[in-house]
Amino acid sequence: MKKIKGTPVSSGIYMEKIKVLERDNEIEAKKGLGAEAEGERAARAFSLAKEQVEKLKAEISGDEALIFDAHLEMLDDPTITEGVQGYIDQDYTAEYAVFQAKNDIKEIFNQMEDEYFKARSNDVEDIMMRVLNNLKGKSAEEEKNNFILVTDELYPSETLEMDFRKIKGIATLRGSKTSHTTILANNFKIPALISIDSVDLSEIEGKLAIIDAINGVLIVEPDEETKKIYEEKIKNYEEANEELKKYIDKKAVTKSGKELKVYANIGSEIEAKTALENGAEGVGLFRSEFLFLGRNNAPDEDEQYRAYKAAVIMMAGKPVIVRTMDIGADKQVNYLNLKEEDNPQMGLRAIRISLKDKPLFKTQLRALLRASYYGDLRVMLPMIISVEEIKKTREIINECLDELKKEQRHFKMFKLGIMIETPAAAIIADELGKHADFFSIGTNDLVSYTLAIDRTNNDLSSYRDDYHTAVMRLLKMIADGAHQNDIEVGICGAMGADPKMLDYYLDIGIDEVSVSLGKILETKRNVIEHE
Ligand code: PEP
Ligand code: MG
Repeated sequence: MKKIKGTPVSSGIYMEKIKVLERDNEIEAKKGLGAEAEGERAARAFSLAKEQVEKLKAEISGDEALIFDAHLEMLDDPTITEGVQGYIDQDYTAEYAVFQAKNDIKEIFNQMEDEYFKARSNDVEDIMMRVLNNLKGKSAEEEKNNFILVTDELYPSETLEMDFRKIKGIATLRGSKTSHTTILANNFKIPALISIDSVDLSEIEGKLAIIDAINGVLIVEPDEETKKIYEEKIKNYEEANEELKKYIDKKAVTKSGKELKVYANIGSEIEAKTALENGAEGVGLFRSEFLFLGRNNAPDEDEQYRAYKAAVIMMAGKPVIVRTMDIGADKQVNYLNLKEEDNPQMGLRAIRISLKDKPLFKTQLRALLRASYYGDLRVMLPMIISVEEIKKTREIINECLDELKKEQRHFKMFKLGIMIETPAAAIIADELGKHADFFSIGTNDLVSYTLAIDRTNNDLSSYRDDYHTAVMRLLKMIADGAHQNDIEVGICGAMGADPKMLDYYLDIGIDEVSVSLGKILETKRNVIEHE
């Protein structure tokens, strides 16, 4: 039995086998068993891949099945098979041959101007990784099991490809409390630890473990006694969660009658369903940039429209606040061709990119205006520091409105709010409030910028003080700025769910908190039980 300490960032307890996330960044260029034997291994892996894809195709229907047809064609495509054979003929292992051929073909696709071929590069990655897994003997069955994911660090784009239903715990060597992986773990109610003690990852692969993200420990190969104790703890934890369900349909009103609406933070339209099931009274932050990550081109207007519309329809009349694309800092995409920056946290990010790349911004705004027709959609702008940015955005929205009118499309103007997550915005909140329809405080960034602490640098965690007087004063200034202008003010950063802050929020007149999916019911209970 080995106890590895870590910092809990998403609570919960679970017992499951560990899976170490491997990144196939490199495969050693090794000579194999000879061209004939390696060729046979590759052929078996390809034919198994075909069987697997056929099976997946049979399980689903409609447009989604088409993607599997494309995968099947690729598995027979001579560019791919001959590419692999070329390396095998040079006596390399089948693994190296598949890996190299994949890189060669992706390189060719990426160089093509045509967006269609660029997008195909992801499909090549997908099928070749399947073949590679087959070569490594990872069975489909194994891929289906639940696991505790352990890795050095998890990047936002990687998490997009994961099936979160199978991940029963996350433990990372690095990471930070406000990183987007932490946010996702919270959203999916996955117990998570960051900054775990150093450990040889290959030694713990496949071992049974308990992740205790309440006490901050990962116990690898627990002995019988520990297992028994934890089985009881897990049962109690699950029962407590069950107990919280009674708050699902209740309004979040304190005993003295003050209301603090509890909304949910989501990263995709699918999560709107979970938000509703967990009693959310609205969506206070739809992080639209998650639609843009982990791909080779930006989603077009129709794709975005479908995603926003789905969330709005799912929330059935409840407000859905979509934040415009917040790319930059720890959420990078390569297709925008942004320059590398020395200080990305304070660089070209969020609204700054949107205002610089007008066609990109217009695509998003048009999609939002169209989706707004179907319910109470509201839009907010990230990283605002000036009135000018809101005015420019309104001008661009007006252009979009004119276009949509001419095109005779269904659309509706939305309420346009802003995120207050820079000290500059907090200090001029009274001014900004004249031009915005609502405020939402992004405490993750606000604390970071106020205290000059890089939110991704965990070595600075001892400096991060959410309760710093400077932060408290800024929160009050923001709330006052909103009230002077008769607009609502919410909190969508992680501090929104902090029970220790509840008194203060009610005092300064915060109208709404938007919290991760895993914290909705707990927050509702805290409000309802508050005097
Ligand atoms: C914030 O900064 O508090 C926030 C909600 O935005 P994000 O965490 O996505 O930067
Ligand atoms: Mg932010």
